[in-house]
Amino acid sequence: MNLQSQTFKGGIHPPHFKKSTENLTIERAKTPDMVYIPMQQHIGAPCEAIVKVGDSVKIGQKVGEAKAFVSAPIHSSVSGKVKKIQKLDTPTGNATTIIIESDGKNEIHESVVSKGKIDDLTKEEIVEVIKEAGITGLGGAGFPTHVKLSPPPEKKVDTVILNGAECEPYLTADHRLMVEQPEMIIKGLKAIMKAVEVTKGFIGIEDNKPDAIKVMMEASKNEKNIQVVPVKTKYPQGDEKRLINSITKREVPNGGLPMDVGVVVNNVGTAHAIGNAFETGMPLVERVATITGSGINNPRNLIIKIGTPFKDIIDECGGFKDNPGKIIMGGPMMGIAQHSIEVPTIKGTSGILVLDKEEAKIPDPDPCIRCAKCVDICPVNLQPLFISKLSLKRMYEEAGSYNALSCIECGSCSFVCPSKRPLLQSIRVAKREILSNRKKS
Ligand code: SF4
Ligand code: SF4
Repeated sequence: MNLQSQTFKGGIHPPHFKKSTENLTIERAKTPDMVYIPMQQHIGAPCEAIVKVGDSVKIGQKVGEAKAFVSAPIHSSVSGKVKKIQKLDTPTGNATTIIIESDGKNEIHESVVSKGKIDDLTKEEIVEVIKEAGITGLGGAGFPTHVKLSPPPEKKVDTVILNGAECEPYLTADHRLMVEQPEMIIKGLKAIMKAVEVTKGFIGIEDNKPDAIKVMMEASKNEKNIQVVPVKTKYPQGDEKRLINSITKREVPNGGLPMDVGVVVNNVGTAHAIGNAFETGMPLVERVATITGSGINNPRNLIIKIGTPFKDIIDECGGFKDNPGKIIMGGPMMGIAQHSIEVPTIKGTSGILVLDKEEAKIPDPDPCIRCAKCVDICPVNLQPLFISKLSLKRMYEEAGSYNALSCIECGSCSFVCPSKRPLLQSIRVAKREILSNRKKS
C-alpha cells in the first residue's frame, strides 16, 4: 500500500476546533469524593450489582456481573465504601447505579495482576482476559469487545484495523494517547490480532495528526504485520465502514457488519485498554477524555475515573465561561446532548463538549431548494432530503423504502444543507419509528 492518504466517497470537511487541546499532555483528574457507577454502560444486557450497601471495595474489584454474552462486567474505579445502589440518570438513559464513597487511599484489589505474555496465551484465554476486564469500544459506541473478537466460524476474518481517525471536531483524546503511549496501543493490537487469528493489522490515522502517524510508525517499525495508514482528514472517516473502505477498498453491505468482509475494527483507546489489562491486570476503570469547547474555561485531556460526575470534571477545568448553551458527551456531530452535569463519566465518554449560547443556536430552517448537496456528500449514498420529507409527514414506512435504516447518523447532511433543514433529527425519528413498528408486528 502506498503512503498517500486513503479515503472514501462522500463526506464533509467541518472545522476541526482541535487547536485548544491537541498539544496538551494527558493529565490525571483528581479522585472524586464519590463515584456513580452505572450497571449499563455498554450495548447489550445490563450488569447485576454483586456488592451491597456497606461493602468495602478496592480499585479494579468487580462490582457488576455480566449475565449475558452481549454484556461486559463493571469494576470499581476507587477504593472506599458502597453508600447506595439506586436508579439514576446516566449520559445515555437511566440505570441502576452503585454509589461509592472514595476513602482517598486508591487501594488496588488483589485480583489486579499482570496476565502474562500475549505470546504464551491461547486465543480463548486472550478473549477471556478482555471479557473479564470489562472492555468495551471506547470510540463511543460501547460494544463489548470480547463479542467483536468472537466471530462465528463461518465468518473468516483476515484483517484487524485500529481506528485512530478521531474525525469528530474538538476531540483529541485518541490523538494524545497515540502520541504519548504508542507501545501500549501496539500491545493491545497484537492481542486483538492473536484473538482473531489474523496476521494483518492496520492503524488508520487522519493525516491532520502527523505527529501521531510518526510516533505510531516508529513504535511499530519492528512489527512486520502491522502497518500505519494515513487516511484523508474528512468526516466521517472514523465510521468503521468508511475506514474499512479507505484502507482495504472492501465495501460492507447495507445492514452488514465488518466481519462480513473479513475485518474487525477497534478504536485505538480500546487497544490501549486491552494492552493495559494484560500488562497490569487493571480492568477498564478509567479512560482519557477531552474536555473542551467555547463554553469551558480551561480545555484539557484528562484521565478520568469511570463514575466521576461531569460536574467534578467541569470544575477541574475551571468551570463554565458563562451559562452554557449546550453540553454534549462526545463530539458535536455524533455526541449525545446532556440535560444535566450530575451524570457520571461512563466507558464511552470520549469527551465533554461545552458550547456557548451563540454556537449552540439552532437556526430556523428554510424550504428545501433541491440543491442535492445532502445527496452528494452522504457517505452511505442515501437521499436525505426525501427520507427527511417523508419522516416529517410521518410516512415512516415510505422513508424506510429509501433505506432510512442504513443512515449512520453522521450528521453530514445537516451540516451541508444551505437551508438548515432538520435532516438528521427527522431521519433519526424515522429510524426509531420503523424499528418500533417492526417490533410490534
Ligand atoms: S443521511 Fe445519515 S448517513 Fe447520510 S449524511 Fe445524513 S446523517 Fe449521514
Ligand atoms: S441540502 Fe438541504 S436544500 Fe439541498 S437538497 Fe438537501 S435538504 Fe434540500
